[in-house]
Order: sequence, then C-alpha cells, then structure tokens
Amino acid sequence: MRAFDYSRATSASDASEKAAGGAVFIAGGTNLLDLMKLEVMAPEALVDITRLALDELAETEGGGLRIGALVTNSDLANDPRVRRDWPVLSRALLAGASGQLRNKATTGGNLLQRTRCLYFYDRDMACNKRAPGTGCAAMEGVNRMMAILGASEKCIATHPSDMAVALMALGAEVEIRAKSGETRVVALDDLYRLPGDRPDQETTLAPGDLITAVLLPPPVAGRQTYRKVRDRASYAFALVSVAGIVAVTEGRIARADLAFGGLAPKPWRAAEVEETLVGQAPSRALFETAADVLLAEAQGHGGNDFKIPLTRRTLVSVLEELTKEDAA
Ligand code: SF4
Repeated sequence: MRAFDYSRATSASDASEKAAGGAVFIAGGTNLLDLMKLEVMAPEALVDITRLALDELAETEGGGLRIGALVTNSDLANDPRVRRDWPVLSRALLAGASGQLRNKATTGGNLLQRTRCLYFYDRDMACNKRAPGTGCAAMEGVNRMMAILGASEKCIATHPSDMAVALMALGAEVEIRAKSGETRVVALDDLYRLPGDRPDQETTLAPGDLITAVLLPPPVAGRQTYRKVRDRASYAFALVSVAGIVAVTEGRIARADLAFGGLAPKPWRAAEVEETLVGQAPSRALFETAADVLLAEAQGHGGNDFKIPLTRRTLVSVLEELTKEDAA
C-alpha cells in the first residue's frame, strides 16, 4: 500500500472541498482498503466522513424512508420498518457479504463499490477499467461471473451489489450534495453509467459530490422477494439475482417491479419486462415471454453463456413464487 494523507471531515462542505481536490471519501472501507492494498487505487489522500451526521433512518412526509448514507448495511437490514414495508431490501442486504462486513459497510459505500472482476484486481493484467486503453483480459479469459447485458467491447464487468438491486426494484432515489452546497436527487438508475468506451467512468458523480442519503418511496402493495443464485450459500457474489415486487389483483398482474443483479455493469431494471407482465394473467407462458424480453439482447462470452438459461429459469421461478395464489 502506498502512503497517503488522512484527514477527518469536519462537515459535508469540508468533505466535498477535499474530495474536489482529489481526496477519496472513506467510510466503512470494506472495498476501498482492499483496492488500496493491491494498489488498484492509490489515492494521495483519504477524507474520513464517518463523523458526519449521515447515519439516520427517518420516515419522510410522504410515507417513504430517508436512509442516511452512513447507515450500515446491518442496521438497514434489521430496521423493523424496512423488514415490514420493504422486505426485498432487507433480504438483499442479508444476502450480501458477511455479518462482519455488513456491520462496517455503509449505504453510500455499498452503492459505489467497485466490480469484483478478478482482472481489475490484478495489476499485471490488461483492464480498461483500471487502466484505460490497455484492453480487457476478461474478454478472452475467465469470464464466468461477467455481464451478459449492458456490457461493451471494452468491459464486461458486473456490478457486485445486492442492496442496489433491491433499491432499483423499489424505485429508490439518491440524494447528492455538490461541492457548491446544492443538493440534487437523482433516480438510482441515473447514478450509474454503462461502460461504453469509458468503463473507468462508473457513475455520474462530479468531483466533490457527496452521497448524503437514499430515498425510498412509500411502500406498495404486493409480494416482495430477493432471489440470489450463487456458487455457495453465503459470502459469494451473485451469478444472477432477482429483486421482485409483484401485485396480483382480480387474477391479473397489477404491478411488477423487477431488477436484476449479476448480469450487467449496473443494477439492471428492464421496463419492457415489467410492461410485458402488467395487465396479464399470471402463467408459465407469460413468464417465459418476460424472460425472452429480458434476454433478447443478452450476449455471453463463453464462460458465462450459462447465465442466459440460468437467468431465464430464475426469473420464471421468482415470478411463479410471487404470483402463487396461496403465497403468504
Ligand atoms: Fe477490466 Fe472490465 Fe475487462 Fe474486467 S471486464 S478486465 S474490469 S475492463
């Protein structure tokens, strides 16, 4: 690890000023410290934001929930309001990492964690995300975990978060404080960029931008689940995951909010899949059609070809679970 300066932010303004000058925010550090030890990231300065007052969970006037950026993954997963009204989020959080990591990892940091592509972490290998213009070793290499949707010829890495997949299905927004002091709110989908020609540019954040909170809309009717398919039962990243909120009224699907993990460079929401389902009577044939729509543009790279049929089976199974007449 290379030497770096460390300072503790005294205010959001102080944090933003330092970040605009090149410092990197640190909170839980559960991903950043690994990246620094491997010298994949070598910031000259860290600004510790853990003393900022961003660790509250507060109900909003409209019946939603404001999740401070420093709320830990454990506290969020175990909050009674989240467990009752947004259970897909609680389940996704508990499917991620380990208990120890969840105790340290924060909401804002979880959103901004980097891919776990093994070539990204190996400085001897070509990687356009780590070193733009050097190539992508994963393209012809071990790409079992890589993306089948939304990737580019420059990068096929996946976003590793479970939490963000649930937040995407829930229609969450992100509150961002700019260096100027102005606050803006963006849809979570708009926080992330697809890799295109610049896989090193992962978000739409500007220098000095500080994520201050995530905003959940009011709870909605319907059943919720988070299904994560992975190589072992815990402490593994998703091969494919599905966050789903589905409501059936009078025999027809009234609502279908779906997001997918392990498939794309960002948590993936496909409006056309939801449109395929809404207004229709649940059936295996309908769910297969929804999978066709989701996977119409899917592209494997050899080692990850299996994700295409796996995603199909997982989506159909999740939709069957969420629309079963006797489901609790
Ligand atoms: Fe790097 Fe992306 Fe290729 Fe992985 S998939 S080696 S992160 S460019």
